[in-house]
Amino acid sequence: MYRRSVRIAVLSDIHSNLVALEQVLRDCGTVDAVWCLGDVVGYGPRPNEVVARLQAVGAVAVAGNHDWAAIGRIDTDDFNPDAAAAAQWTARMLLHEASAYLAGLPQVRVHDQQRATLVHGSPRDPLWEYLLDAHRAAANLAHFATQLCLFGHTHIPSRFVDRGDGRLRAEYAEPDDVLDLQQLQGKLLLNPGSVGQPRDGDPRAAYLLLDLGQGTATWRRVEYDVWETQQQMIEAKLPRWLVERLALGR
Ligand code: ZN
Repeated sequence: MYRRSVRIAVLSDIHSNLVALEQVLRDCGTVDAVWCLGDVVGYGPRPNEVVARLQAVGAVAVAGNHDWAAIGRIDTDDFNPDAAAAAQWTARMLLHEASAYLAGLPQVRVHDQQRATLVHGSPRDPLWEYLLDAHRAAANLAHFATQLCLFGHTHIPSRFVDRGDGRLRAEYAEPDDVLDLQQLQGKLLLNPGSVGQPRDGDPRAAYLLLDLGQGTATWRRVEYDVWETQQQMIEAKLPRWLVERLALGR
């Protein structure tokens, strides 16, 4: 039976890295939708341009902790000094339209038709909780009703899946891993990794390509011009470590 392909690019933690975002949008080609899991801004040098680009492709997005910090909805006491400095720089740079866009992002979006819940951190604590182990992921199962939960925040391409023994396990997602969603039992939690500031030792931009017609999820890595983003950051006088870490993927 022919099933129509429904391709969705799932992006997270873009962090104002326009060069990486453009490369990811080129790589995914024509898609039916772009979903964004928060932290659109923070750390990087092009907050207004990244927001405008997401608006231009009609992205469906949720808020991340850095987005709320940039619009002054949370203070930066819980941020490390570099992240706080970048958040304050972002707050100064943001134009009204971009601020209004970030202010309008919900913490959770549920696509009943596509059977997916979108959050930044976790379903039970959307802005702050880091899903890094299976125990925490399992504790979140009761907090979403769809088959899929898409989350970001950790900047690590990963997933929590039940391989048939009734237990959720944590798996790191290698580049070009393809997950057959129909082969898996129960609920799944998938993390695309970070477009704009990867932290798994691979500096390439990370994202996830969902095909809900075929029932597959593919983790992608895309090379981009890291130096171009670094130069923009140096010009903006953003903290040195934030510049250096992009080349290291940490
Ligand atoms: Zn982030």
